[in-house]
Amino acid sequence: MQGKPMQIISICGEDDSSSSRCILQLNEDELNKMFTDGKIKDRVVSVISVAGAFRKGKSFLLDFCLRYMYAKYGHNNLSEKDWLGDENAPLEGFSWRGGSQRDTTGILIWSDIFLYDNPNGEKVAIILMDTQGTFDCDSTMKDCANVFALSTMISSVQIFNIQSNIQKDDLQHLQLFTEYARIAMEDTVKKPFQKLQFLIRDWIHKSEAPFGALGGKQLLEQTLIRKDKRPEENEQLCENLKTSFNEIDCYLMPQPGYGIEEPDFRGCLKDLRDEFKKHLRDFIPLILAPENLIIKEINGQKLKVDHLLKYIRLYFDAFNSKECPEPTTIFKATAEANNQIHATNAEELYESKMTELTSPDKPYIPEEELKRQHEEYVEQTILCYKDKPLLGKIYFLMKYCQKIKSYCSSRFQQFRQLNEAKLALAEVNYLSHMNKCILD
Ligand code: GDP
Ligand code: MG
Repeated sequence: MQGKPMQIISICGEDDSSSSRCILQLNEDELNKMFTDGKIKDRVVSVISVAGAFRKGKSFLLDFCLRYMYAKYGHNNLSEKDWLGDENAPLEGFSWRGGSQRDTTGILIWSDIFLYDNPNGEKVAIILMDTQGTFDCDSTMKDCANVFALSTMISSVQIFNIQSNIQKDDLQHLQLFTEYARIAMEDTVKKPFQKLQFLIRDWIHKSEAPFGALGGKQLLEQTLIRKDKRPEENEQLCENLKTSFNEIDCYLMPQPGYGIEEPDFRGCLKDLRDEFKKHLRDFIPLILAPENLIIKEINGQKLKVDHLLKYIRLYFDAFNSKECPEPTTIFKATAEANNQIHATNAEELYESKMTELTSPDKPYIPEEELKRQHEEYVEQTILCYKDKPLLGKIYFLMKYCQKIKSYCSSRFQQFRQLNEAKLALAEVNYLSHMNKCILD
């Protein structure tokens, strides 16, 4: 395994009670290096995140995910059947023990980005994301809501890792970030987030529902879906969740066995119960097998790696510029990035039309005609931008139409010069031709 965990965002709350500012740090250099790599940047991206309370086996699970990823998409010669690895190999990857001390709150990604070329021609980059945070104490609640919100916004699959059962406070924590989603919803018919995967660890109520995806479905039915069964106080919460995520699944995991309690436990398979291993083999491909990958979308459009970088930067700025961000701020940041990308893409239309019109092999165009063409292309460019599924249209339409116009007029000056140079050149040619005629 050559990769390593990389902290891309760290969050710490200021303890000063007069303010509720969160201080965020973005590891921009590393992110830039990874996400603008020529092999990766133009691929559509699938981001799998695991979030939830501290010390509940998130990183531990992700390290088994890494084994699957290297076996399936890497070149480590493990056949798919034995991807879970050697019985005696210690578990490595994201750090998963760390004692009872909490690590820095934040978001990490695995530095190796996995590549998959879909037979339908789509080139995919897969990113695994670990989060650190806790919900156990009020002072850190805000940081954790931020970690949760940020990781949900960045990912295409959010695995919500919880202990024992779906409790009311788990749902309340979810409500914190679905609030962000609800606001994004005002502007679009699409659900803002893609897949929410509940992962229940140490499930013991086997008589109520069996381990695995089927049992998970049953539990979900009872807690979220069936109106007659779910508690009334969860009503609004459940409705919010369902309108925020495209897909919600649940998986019931057995207890890993008592081996994990031994002081010298290193995560070797031999120390885990067969039942647990069986369900690792079952669960992980449900998320990571090629046919189950979910490409990150924003407002129905698939996202490429370098666009994801733009979003992360904007989310980051939104979180950092204010008090802990209001949902509107997050929504605006998403919308702004969305508009920016569509405007830049549209400008390429103007660029290519005008470049063609004024290319060296084309004749000089009279000034008036050039201006007319320019105006027509500006109009087409603006239409091309407006035609895209734009988030937050009411906030950004004017701003980006203006931006496109001023971009086009500044480029027009250059195209005009190119065109005028042709006239000057034609004059020189004409004069030299006349000279030649006189001399002859
Ligand atoms: P994280 O803080 O959620 O990332 O938790 P870690 O992955 O660091 O794991 C914390 C501890 O939980 C480790 O000592 C693991 O051995 C243990 N652990 C891992 N998976 C499970 C599980 O499914 N059930 C229980 N009870 N413990 C687990
Ligand atoms: Mg961890």
